[in-house]
Amino acid sequence: FFITFEGTDGSGKTSVLNAIEAKLKTAKVDYLRTREPGGNRISEQIRNVILDERSTEMDARTEALLYAAARRQHLVETVLPALEAGKVVLCDRFVDSSLAYQGAGRGIGVAEVKQMNQFATAGLEPDLTIYLALEPRLGLERIKQNRQDEVNRLDKEALSFYETVYRAYQKLATENERIVTIDASQKLADVIAEVELVLSSKIPV
Ligand code: C5P
Ligand code: MG
Repeated sequence: FFITFEGTDGSGKTSVLNAIEAKLKTAKVDYLRTREPGGNRISEQIRNVILDERSTEMDARTEALLYAAARRQHLVETVLPALEAGKVVLCDRFVDSSLAYQGAGRGIGVAEVKQMNQFATAGLEPDLTIYLALEPRLGLERIKQNRQDEVNRLDKEALSFYETVYRAYQKLATENERIVTIDASQKLADVIAEVELVLSSKIPV
């Protein structure tokens, strides 16, 4: 069972994943927690190219292709073997991130980025996507309070960039049955309880 977690920066994906992971461990569910881009040697190298602060000249389509390449390798090396072994796979970000960040945020177009990712995934889709919905203004405030190290990187983008990404996520959520929207502006314990409720209807937690 393939579950992805999506949301804009500061929406609480990491905290929620930590809680869900603890829950699965206690319930002795055979699971794999992973994140993209990364998780294997080749994808980590691609990630370093994408996140290299010196590459200010990176073209938006180049970025989208690199994310898709890293995704492909991560899928083949990490996700598919785990799914074949019958594990529940929890993945921090997947294709929807590219549709929102590269397709909408960078303005390439959601349809084009979707088509390109179709090639990368050979059509594999998550069984379930948990989307943590939070207005970017609030997400960025949370990051400023808790993660000084990330502030500089995020400040390179205008608030309007994150708002475009957010609107794209909202649209994707209304268009796709597999995406469940969780109000991430609630306090963390309530967000986690809602996510657990959604998961409990799909997997034995
Ligand atoms: O998952 P996490 O929030 O740690 O993502 C790291 C950063 O990479 C995010 O801040 C996001 O802005 C960026 N990203 C992106 N396009 C993607 C995935 C992530 O720009 N497809
Ligand atoms: Mg983050």
